[in-house]
Amino acid sequence: MKAVKVLEPGNIQIIEEPIPEIIGDTDLLIKVKAAGICGSDIGIYDGTSSVATYPRIIGHEFSGEVVRIGSAISGVQVGDHIATDPVIACGACRVCQKKRSNVCMNLQVIGVHRDGGFREYVTVPEKSVYKVSPSLPWEHAAIIEPYTVAAQVAARGEVQEGDVVLILGSGQIAITILQVVKLLGATCIMTDVVEERLKRAKEFGADLLINSTKEDVVAKVKEFTSGIGADVAIDAACAGITLEQAALSVRPAGIVVTMGFADRQVRISEGTITKNELDIRGSRLNNNMFPKVIEWFETGKINPERIITHKLHFTKVLEGFDKVKKEPETTMKVILTFE
Ligand code: MN
Repeated sequence: MKAVKVLEPGNIQIIEEPIPEIIGDTDLLIKVKAAGICGSDIGIYDGTSSVATYPRIIGHEFSGEVVRIGSAISGVQVGDHIATDPVIACGACRVCQKKRSNVCMNLQVIGVHRDGGFREYVTVPEKSVYKVSPSLPWEHAAIIEPYTVAAQVAARGEVQEGDVVLILGSGQIAITILQVVKLLGATCIMTDVVEERLKRAKEFGADLLINSTKEDVVAKVKEFTSGIGADVAIDAACAGITLEQAALSVRPAGIVVTMGFADRQVRISEGTITKNELDIRGSRLNNNMFPKVIEWFETGKINPERIITHKLHFTKVLEGFDKVKKEPETTMKVILTFE
């Protein structure tokens, strides 16, 4: 079979490997049907990932058909359609005991710390897979994961019906968050520095758009909310300044959600936090959000088709990376196909 392997930063190859063997009796062999390219895959290729190890078969957003099962498996059958949660937690550490398994102290992410899904066949533990309806398109099942990231952000922000949610940035991740918070009944303000992306956010239902190169984000948010501030601010741009804007745009007792991994320092005064009793919270991966997102997809509450802008054979993965990097105005999700 063929696999997409990053041998070291900057060196990606389509290699020939044997189909993996089932080792544990609770492992499954999956024939991969579709996969999504994520910014973090590109980070592993570029060498900017702070967590990846090499060599690595990348890919953590994928769907497939079960073709073989370990002897101790009862909940999944050959022929089932599945999506895979890339988060593998130890289940035993202090953090897992606190039911925060996505930040497990021994966290393993499929496609980051262990080999992922950009290959024709992959083995995964039974507890990592979720059955999906055979009527759900493979490409949709492949991008359940980015929507679980959005669902996690919404959960960390405690987004509720009637909330005003500020999303900093209007890239692909921001758009999936927009879809989720609109589903939850929130009003949504979106910012960006690129007019085309703001236009796209409008098409996805954003209620107020702010071009931060032309307008003062904090002042516009205050104006829109009668001087109160947003209930929740989500930094999906992760540009440093956007986290500062988030902290200054929420109301007293508001929640700020961060998504960035950079080492950079941002300037938020302790007074801003204390005076307003702000909650500033990180959001990483997802904490058991697959069932919820699968329900959203299967009932049509969320239409993932709308974020798919390109489909490519998986051996053309670098072409997909180029689209994401060089054409961000017109590229959202690139789907890799395996037929
Ligand atoms: Mn992802």
